[in-house]
Parts: sequence; C-alpha cells; structure tokens
Amino acid sequence: MNLFKRFFSYYKPHMGLFMLDTVVAIISSVLSVLFPLLTNYLLNGPLKEGNVRMMAIIFIVMFAVYVFQAVSTYIRIRWGHFLGVRIENEMRQDLFDHLQDLSFSYFDKTKTGSIMSRITNDLFQIAEIAHHGPEDFIISTLTIFVSYIFMFSISVPLALISFIPLPLMLFYGIFFGHKLKVRNREVRKTIADVNVDAENSIQGIREVKSFAQEEFQKKKFSKSNTKLKTSREGMYVEMANYQTGIGFMRELYYLVTVVGGSVLIYFGLSDVSTLITFTLFVSVVLSPVDRLINFTEQLQQGIASFERFVEVMDTEPSIKDFEGAEDIEVGKGEVSFSNVSFSYDSGEGNVLDHLDFTIKGGENVALVGESGAGKTTIVNLLSRFYEPTEGRILIDGVDIKNVTQSSLHKAIGFVQQNVFLFDASIRENLRYGKGSASDEELWEALEMANLGDFVRSLPDGLDTEVGERGTRLSGGQRQRLSIARVFLKNPPIIVFDEATSSLDTESEASIQDAFSRVAKGRTAIVIAHRLSTIVGCDRIFVLDKGRIAEEGTHESLLNKNGIYRRLYARTADSI
Ligand code: ADP
Ligand code: MG
Repeated sequence: MNLFKRFFSYYKPHMGLFMLDTVVAIISSVLSVLFPLLTNYLLNGPLKEGNVRMMAIIFIVMFAVYVFQAVSTYIRIRWGHFLGVRIENEMRQDLFDHLQDLSFSYFDKTKTGSIMSRITNDLFQIAEIAHHGPEDFIISTLTIFVSYIFMFSISVPLALISFIPLPLMLFYGIFFGHKLKVRNREVRKTIADVNVDAENSIQGIREVKSFAQEEFQKKKFSKSNTKLKTSREGMYVEMANYQTGIGFMRELYYLVTVVGGSVLIYFGLSDVSTLITFTLFVSVVLSPVDRLINFTEQLQQGIASFERFVEVMDTEPSIKDFEGAEDIEVGKGEVSFSNVSFSYDSGEGNVLDHLDFTIKGGENVALVGESGAGKTTIVNLLSRFYEPTEGRILIDGVDIKNVTQSSLHKAIGFVQQNVFLFDASIRENLRYGKGSASDEELWEALEMANLGDFVRSLPDGLDTEVGERGTRLSGGQRQRLSIARVFLKNPPIIVFDEATSSLDTESEASIQDAFSRVAKGRTAIVIAHRLSTIVGCDRIFVLDKGRIAEEGTHESLLNKNGIYRRLYARTADSI
C-alpha cells in the first residue's frame, strides 16, 4: 500500500470529524475574503449614496461573518485537534500492539530510546500533520486563490503588481524556515547531549573523584557546552535571517500594493476605494502565506515520522504461530533437544552445535558450563524466544514449533538470571503469575518462596511498591519474588537461570530451599553456578562448545576428571 493511502486509512473511522473540520475550513477561508469585498462595495455604493439602511445591513453582515469565523475557529481548535489526537492514539495503540508481537531478535537489534521516540515524538508529529495538514493546505491555498480571483476582477493591473512579492515571500519563508527548524532540532539534540554528560558525571562523581579525573570531566563537559553555544548561536543566526526577511517582505507586500495603487490612481487608472480594498486583501492573504510556509515544514517532518512508524509496523515477528496451531497439553513434561543448532546472527558461528539431550518428565537437571557457553540460549530456545536453525525441540514428543506460543509460554515457568520486576506493587508483580490470584494464594506463594516473613514485615505488605526494576528489593528478595510468581503460575516445566551475582549465604540457602520446593514434581532445568544447586539435581549436563560434553551426577563427573572437574576446582564452591 502506498504511504499516503496508508496514512489516510487512519482517517476512515473519523470521517465525520474530518468532514466537519474540512467544511468549516473551506467556508471560513471563503468568508475571510468577504470583508474586503464588502468594504469595497460599501465605499462605492451605500456610503457614496448615503444609503444608511444598506450600510447597516453591510455592518450586520460583517458582524455575522466574524461571529461565524469565531465559531469556526472554536470548531477547528477543538474538534480538529480531537481528530489529530484520535488518529495519533490509534496509531500509538497499533504500534504498541505490534511491538508486543515482535520477537526477541527485533529487540536485540533495536535501542529502547529509538522505540520510545517513535511512540511519543514521531506520533506527535504525525498527529500534527494529520490534523493541521489538510486544514492548513485547504485554508491557505483557497484563501489566496479566491482573494486573487476577486482582486483580478476588481483591477487586473493592481492585482498583477501586488502579486509580485507573493512567490518571493513563499520561497524565502519555506527555504529559511526549513533552515531554522533544522537548527532548532540541532539545538535540542545538543541540549540532550549536555544533559547526558552532566548526568553521567554527577552520578559517577565518586569514581571521578577517586580516580582524580575532575580535570578530564571539566574538559569533556566544556566541549559539549561549547557545542551547545555554537549551535544556539547558529540557531539565532537563522532566526534573524528568517524573521527579518519575512517581516521585511510582509511590509514590502503592502508597499508594492500601495505604490502600485497610487501610481495607477495618479494616471487615472484606478481609484482610492480599490486601493483600500487591496490593502485589506493583502492582510487577508498574509496569514495563509504563513500557514503555507508552516505546512511545508510540517509535511516534511510528518512524512519522515510516518515512514519510521511504517517501518516498525512492517517488521514481521520472526517467530509466528502456524496456521491452525493448537495449544500444547503438557503431561509428563519430557523435554528433548534433537540435533539442535543455533546462532543469533546468520553468518556468525553456531552457539549451539547439533545439540542432543533428553530430560525425563519430572527430572531436575543442572546445566553448567563456562560463561558464554550457551546455557541461557538453550532455555531461550525451549521457550521459542528464538528458533533453532536446525533440529527440533520436543515437549512430550510434540515439536514446539507446531503449538501456539502462548500455550508454550504458559507451560514454562522462568526464574530469570536478571529478575525483572515491574515498577508496581508486590501484589501486581505476583499477579503476573496468575491474574486471578486471591490474597490468600499470594501469601501462600510468598510463604513457599520463603518471602512471607519479609513481606509481612513491610508496613504496606502486598501493596509495597518495588521501585523501578525492583530496586527497593535486594537481589535475593527479587529472586524469591520471582519464584513465588512461578508457584502461582504452576507450570509443569520450570527454568531457573541462577544469578551469578554473589548473594549472602543466608539468602542463598533460602533461595535454594524455595527453589527445591518449586522444582519438586516438575521438570526443571537449572542453570547452576552454586554447588548447593548442583548437588540437589538428578543429573548434570556440562555444556561445552555448543554441545553436551559430559553428563552424570556430581560424583561421577568429578571422578571423570574432565571439564566438570576443572570448572569445579577453579571456582571451589560456585561454578
Ligand atoms: P551463557 O548463558 O552460557 O553464559 P549465553 O547463552 O547467554 O551464554 O550466550 C551464548 C553466546 O551467545 C555468547 O557468546 C553470547 O555472546 C551470545 N549471545 C547471547 N545472547 C545474544 C543475543 N541476544 N544476540 C547475539 N548474541 C548473543
Ligand atoms: Mg546465561
């Protein structure tokens, strides 16, 4: 679909508002030329003849025109903007919905900041053009056009003379207006840079001082500060160019008309009433000229923003449910990887290389290996966050490719390496596990996760806000909260990507304890760093170079004198 068609498809549900806005814009631009016309008529007719009745009628009509203009301004400001806001809202929802459907691989490659600016800034630009675009374009072209029709019908030579500055003014305004906008954007960007610099340096003030780097920081800041000065000065140069030039041309427009009219009057080719009428027309035409200049700039920005919007909307999720895919019914919970290979970027080497293993239903398996060996990758594939380049992953003999992603995700409980908590209350965070959970169930889950005492000790209990990313909780508390969430979710398969960050021994024991409770009777894959976790598991897989290199119990692997023994020896109590 072409860009414009696609853009206007968003108007469809709001045709009523769009028509209202457009019709009002048309009527109001036609009416705006009435004032000079009526004045012209007044000067040549009723005023000359002393027809008081007619004069009164004209004044009333003029008044009525202004009343209508006021009403139309109200309608345009209110409902015109409603139109823009509604279109913007729908686009934003579409964008957000689409982002929710996109796969991990998209977010690996896209910066959060760039997504955020699309959701806010770009859509705002689009809304502006969605509402003001058609309206500005109609009002300005129509007003200028209709004005000149009447001006030509009143006096061809004067209309020709007064037309001369118009294209000049438009060209100048569009050209320098654009330069000014570009400079403005540059200034905004440099301000952002200065903020980042200052923030970084202030947040890191301890590091700065302890490394005695004050002078370096000052120099670095002075660089971006100077850049801001230069770019602001550049902006004011363009502002001076633009505003002086446009202001001068506006006056010139009057001057040319007055001079032209006077010369024509001098030679007896025109009269005073024509000149007065024309100067009134000049003031009618001036504001649409501004609009038109503004419109071209807005249009450019709107198109660029809409293109960025479309780019995201056209990105297909790399992983999709098959047509007619059914929900997975997990029974025993047997997990098997059959000849699975995978790489994050085609072209790069394989992270997993013809991997083969089976975990029996209800078995607890530990996965160990060097950092970067691909442990997290394995569990990402099991959840189908990424798709293997080769091979199959089966749960209870069913290829996970053939089932719906949502049912698969419901069947697997994750305790992530970096627990993410939403900036909300404990209650709300827990309910991600089970939306309908009653407080009783929540407490039960907290109890099972060894977090009951802690939450009870908080003045706000379940309503305690955890802060951004859960910063108000300690690492161990976050993990136990995440385990409680899995209790509530109650999935047949669980994955525990153990945190590498050192926890104190008490919370380690407490997490271990909570975890064994949640793992009991379920298929569990534990990416283990600590001996306590490994020893509790039925089997241990040692991952090396994308394959299972060794497999067995803790004792048998130690006896083997291979990779596991080396890993174990190196880290003493944690792997
Ligand atoms: P582990 O969990 O065993 O420490 P990972 O499975 O996280 O290791 O990573 C395996 C390899 O894949 C590493 O070399 C890592 O750099 C790479 N990798 C992990 N995640 C991504 C990603 N999202 N995009 C590209 N490469 C990745
Ligand atoms: Mg990992």
